Amino acid sequence: MNPSQSRHYANIRLERASPDEIKGLQLKRIQTVLAHAYDRNPFYRALYDKAGVHPRDIRSLEDFRARIPFIDKRTLLEDQSAYPPYGSRADVPDAHIHQVTHTGGTSGIGQELHMFTQLETESWTTGFFYECAWAGIQPGDRVVRFIRVAMELGGLWHKSAGERFGLNQFFIGAYDSETRLKLMRRISPHLIIAQPSYLTRLSLMCEEQGIQPREAFPELKAMMFSGEAHGGVNWLRRMENFWGVKLAEWYGSTQAAGSHMFSCEGGLHFDDGRLRMLHNLEHRIYCEMLDLETGLPVNSGEDGEMFITNLYNENFPIIRFRTYDRARYRDADYCDCGRPFSGIESGSVSRVDDMLKVRGQNLWPDTVGGLIFGRVELEEYQGTVWVDETGRERVRVAVEFRPGSLSEGERDVLRQRLREEIKQKTDITMEVIEVEHGTLPRFEQKARRWKDERGASRQSAVQQLGTNR
Ligand SMILES: [Zn+2]
Repeated sequence: MNPSQSRHYANIRLERASPDEIKGLQLKRIQTVLAHAYDRNPFYRALYDKAGVHPRDIRSLEDFRARIPFIDKRTLLEDQSAYPPYGSRADVPDAHIHQVTHTGGTSGIGQELHMFTQLETESWTTGFFYECAWAGIQPGDRVVRFIRVAMELGGLWHKSAGERFGLNQFFIGAYDSETRLKLMRRISPHLIIAQPSYLTRLSLMCEEQGIQPREAFPELKAMMFSGEAHGGVNWLRRMENFWGVKLAEWYGSTQAAGSHMFSCEGGLHFDDGRLRMLHNLEHRIYCEMLDLETGLPVNSGEDGEMFITNLYNENFPIIRFRTYDRARYRDADYCDCGRPFSGIESGSVSRVDDMLKVRGQNLWPDTVGGLIFGRVELEEYQGTVWVDETGRERVRVAVEFRPGSLSEGERDVLRQRLREEIKQKTDITMEVIEVEHGTLPRFEQKARRWKDERGASRQSAVQQLGTNR
């Protein structure tokens, strides 16, 4: 691929289709995927037989929503545990499996495996072409990344996608901060890919070292991060101002075979301060945004929970997968770019369950709770996630001991042990501090023992950015 072909990356005809054409295409693909799953996939056949529904009953997108049962992480894990390792949903010989990934985090109810054939890896990673084209990135551009490449799809997907698109990729996440900055100056990147928390940190490190990004990185065109709560429009403006480029955002999941929603060339906010949207690749992933109380689709501007259907992956079908991600739905015409792709508002993704994303890792509070309440000496705890003044994302666990149960020395030893166990179980380093008995709130029903203060603290961490010169 060469730069002159760049205008062909994104499918121009689709980007000019009418919303009705898109809906027609989605229905056709849904019917094909359903029929295939029912005929060939024991997992789905059992599911649909139990629900008393047959693919020929599905004549509209409304039928699909009303009649086809959803699946979730638990359903997939049960199937994989009954038919290890890939589950009865996997529908190709093992020799055709090209890439295996698992979902993030080392805790919660478990990590399901997801598999892709070579063709799927190739086709799904081309979603990144839209992301690049819309953000003004070209083949041959240099990208620095801080995301780790391991078993999770995120790192692998970006690596394959970048190779296929023709980026020059620099994986500098393994180095210390000073080396990263040194390398960045040498590389002169066109693109930086990192989490919002790390962009804050990176900005403050530049400030500390007297580096002015506009001068130090004159070729920079964009910075991309994944869909999660950022610090709002003020945070975005600080970042844009400091780095001199627009920010771009994506949203995706392992179940969706990667990223499928991207911000367009307009960036992440309008001039009047309203947040813009990420457009869903509607011809690849069918995304239902539902109100959980009524089960009906939400209107533009309302929050809904995302249910996704992969419109092409027939080897490992994902049909009506409940993501537990909630976001603000936006109709296509919310954006001024004219694309017929609806999607979600920038920075609006949150969880329906109590999972937290900390430094890119999924954290289920129950894992920490289990370690704490498993010890008779401990009575209560509270977790806090925030961004400190140097931009680092930090986690503190405050614990209360049962009165008189241990000496001060013993309490210190237990705190230390807890810290190590938490790190081992969650892969996240947390501070464990002791607070006086009776100071933490008690919860009778659904525990709300975790406070996420990152939005506000990320914003205040960058408040002074660029004003110290
Ligand atoms: Zn747009």
